[in-house]
Amino acid sequence: MIAVWHWFLQVTGTDDEAGRWYAFWSGFGADFAEGAIFLSILGMYHRHKCQNCWRLALKAGLGRVEGTHYETCHKHTNKEDHAALKEQHRLRHPALHEHLSKGTE
Ligand SMILES: [Zn+2]
Repeated sequence: MIAVWHWFLQVTGTDDEAGRWYAFWSGFGADFAEGAIFLSILGMYHRHKCQNCWRLALKAGLGRVEGTHYETCHKHTNKEDHAALKEQHRLRHPALHEHLSKGTE
């Protein structure tokens, strides 16, 4: 098998240096690059995903829940869902809502 590989390298003109780089990129290098791409896609998905389901949130902030960082998809862009999410956000992050409630009192 090694003899065939040597023959292949000679025929194709691939020297040892190029072979080593190929081994690097097809091994660790490619895994690392793919992993980074996968993680960044996963991160983007989580940031722009609907708060109530797996769908992606609406573009241009149309699904944004007022006063929160939450976003919803077209299915959950209604008053009931947004009111519930607002309440949920208020309970989870009371500090963020303190100045708002003070203003209305
Ligand atoms: Zn949704």
